[in-house]
Formats: sequence, structure tokens, C-alpha cells
Amino acid sequence: MPAQLINGTALSQQIRTEVAARAAALAARGIQPGLAVILVGEDPASAVYVRNKVKACAETGLHSVLEKYDASFGEAELLARIRALNDDPAIHGILVQMPLPKHINPQRVIETISTAKDVDGYSVQSAGDLMAGLPGFRPCTPYGCMKLIESTGVPLKGKHAVVIGRSNTVGKPMALLLLAANATVTICHSATPDLGLFTRQADVVVAAVGRRNTLTAGMVKPGAIVIDVGMNRNDEGKLCGDVDFAGVSPIAGWITPVPGGVGPMTITMLLVNTLESAERGAT
Ligand code: NAP
Repeated sequence: MPAQLINGTALSQQIRTEVAARAAALAARGIQPGLAVILVGEDPASAVYVRNKVKACAETGLHSVLEKYDASFGEAELLARIRALNDDPAIHGILVQMPLPKHINPQRVIETISTAKDVDGYSVQSAGDLMAGLPGFRPCTPYGCMKLIESTGVPLKGKHAVVIGRSNTVGKPMALLLLAANATVTICHSATPDLGLFTRQADVVVAAVGRRNTLTAGMVKPGAIVIDVGMNRNDEGKLCGDVDFAGVSPIAGWITPVPGGVGPMTITMLLVNTLESAERGAT
């Protein structure tokens, strides 16, 4: 039997409907959740991402501010803008779109965002909170992956989860979230000599590599949940993930498509984090 599709577009829509209802409830108390998005430079992909974030805010009743600066904008000026937004009561979340121009230190920028408004969850404090099991903002992509896994109804407790990739924004937080859900977690990366040795034992595989066909049919345990974070282009220039979807779906129990899987969830979890930031401030 082919794998059941985990529909990220549908789940994302369902969560956004809930976000809109909670945002309306807050607005009725005079608080409109607000997200500030900062874009520096003219990277076309980044321009699309920020546009989509601002659009998603408008569709769910969140206030958003988009600040665009040209590529020569100075680091000191950027940090000053962030500090001003930290002090702005109408703003509950601050997101600086990456990558930044070379003359700006991204970590310094991230660390300047107040932890209370770090809705991307990229700061050392947010990473430490996740590591220590304390409340805080979880990075949006792995947070969205957890929601996709939860939507299958399969409990993670005692399951073996393999994460392929160990970036600070996806792989590592993903592994920590799975661990917090009581899975037994293995992290694989570019120096893992035999990826299939690990993935064949996995009840859950999360592929976050950025290389298509990283996970193929012979590497998957029958019935496994397969979450494909990758965003790549195939030979025809079409968007595809890290997983050989056609080969793996007859074997897996559950699988996310690309597009329509993890992608829509990332912005949705940004909305959730921004809303929760506003709710925390309101209590
Ligand atoms: P990244 O920072 O480049 O990290 C990639 C990871 O994959 C690294 O840890 C690397 O290992 C590992 N890797 C590379 N080649 C490998 C191989 N042959 N076998 C096993 N592991 C290998 O990328 P990222 O930011 O985590 O993103 C990963 C992918 O997810 C990209 O395609 C990105 O576009 C996509 N993404 C999608 C969304 C979304 O919303 N859908 C959001 C974020 C990212 P080393 O650490 O050893 O180098």
C-alpha cells in the first residue's frame, strides 16, 4: 500500500484558521499581534519569502511591518533598528531575513533581537531554552515538522527517529524536539559513512540536507514516517525535496510531498510564534 500523504498545505490552513481566531480574540482586548520583518539587500528569493510572510500576517489578522534596506545598509544602523523594534509595544516578533550582506555579522544581528521577540528561535538563548527543555520560541521549520508528524496520530514515544542534517536552524533543533517527544534520536550528516544503515532502522526520518535523492527506496523501513525538508531543483527545474518521492512512497507509511509538505508549515509556525508572543505579553 502506498504511503499516506501528509498534506502540509491543508494542515497549515487549519492552523492558520486557529491563529486568525486567537488573533481576533486578542484584538478584541485591544492587542493586535505584530511582526516586524527586515530585509537587507536585493536577493530575489529573500524578497519572495518576506512578501509571503507579510501576506500571511494580513490573511490571519496580524499586524506586520516590512522594513527594506539596500545592500549597503550598515550593521550599526541595522542593530539600532532592531533595538527600536525591541522597545516597540506594537511589535511582538522580529525577523531579519537571512542571508545578510557579507559586511553584516548575522549572529550579532540575531543576538540583538530581544529573546521575547525572537520568533525565528535562532538566538543562543532560544537554542539554550530548547536544549534545556524550557519554554521559548522553537525554530519554525522543525516546529512545523513536529506538527506534521503529530498529524499522523503516530505517537513518537519510544520510536527511533533519524535526522539527516545538523544545521543550527533545522537539523539540530529538529533532533532536540524529537528527543523532547521521547523518541530515540540519531543525527546523521555529511561525514556519516553509511546513511542507509541508520535510516533503515528509523520509524521516522527527517531529511534536511539540500541534495535531491539523498533518501531512496532501499534506505527506508516499511511503514516509516518520512518528512522531507529539502528544497532543490530537479533536471527540469521543478522544486523537489531530498527524498526520492516516487521510490520511497510505496514503502513508507507516511510521507510529505515537496512542494506542499514542510514548506507551507514554516511560515505558519512563524505566525504561531508571533501570536504566542503577543498572548504572553497580554497575560
Ligand atoms: P545546511 O545548513 O546546508 O545543512 C545541510 C546539512 O546536511 C548539513 O548538516 C550537512 O552535513 C548535511 N549533509 C550534506 N550532505 C550530506 C550527505 N551527503 N549525507 C548526509 N548529510 C549531508 O542546510 P539547512 O539550512 O539545514 O537546510 C537543509 C535543506 O532544507 C535545504 O534544502 C533547505 O533549502 C531546506 N529548507 C527548507 C525549509 C522549508 O521551509 N521547506 C526551511 C529551511 C530549510 P555537515 O554538517 O556535515 O556539513
